[in-house]
Amino acid sequence: MMRRDDLTRYLEERGLRATTPRLRLLAFFAEHSGHFTPEEIFERLRASGEGVSIATLYQNLRTFRERGLLEEVTGPGGELRYDANLVPHHHLVCVSCGRMTDLEFEVPPLALPAPSAGWSVFERRLEVRGLCPDCRARQGA
Ligand SMILES: [Zn+2]
Ligand SMILES: [Zn+2]
Repeated sequence: MMRRDDLTRYLEERGLRATTPRLRLLAFFAEHSGHFTPEEIFERLRASGEGVSIATLYQNLRTFRERGLLEEVTGPGGELRYDANLVPHHHLVCVSCGRMTDLEFEVPPLALPAPSAGWSVFERRLEVRGLCPDCRARQGA
């Protein structure tokens, strides 16, 4: 677990004032890896006694994303999720329960097919969809 001093310095080095809600949010992502919706983060912080208001949470999530502390990803149901893994990576997604797992491998540069002519590509992400082990077990697949 990161110390409060370290978290404070991390924020200040990125030009952000170390407010209590920001420190709580940063500590959350230091301790949990995954892809969380704002509502999930809100509930978990509240359950751990480190609650912040939902409006402040949304605002800080946006600020963290703008400053490059978090990535925004779209979950399997089209919902917005936040990911603290800043290394470029791909996702393995369960179509049944929505679980997202990071896949860290390089996709080799490739010549894109015709419709990409004229496009400027700045990010390539691969999403692999399937059933996670729990859902397979539940469905007997
Ligand atoms: Zn699943
Ligand atoms: Zn991820």
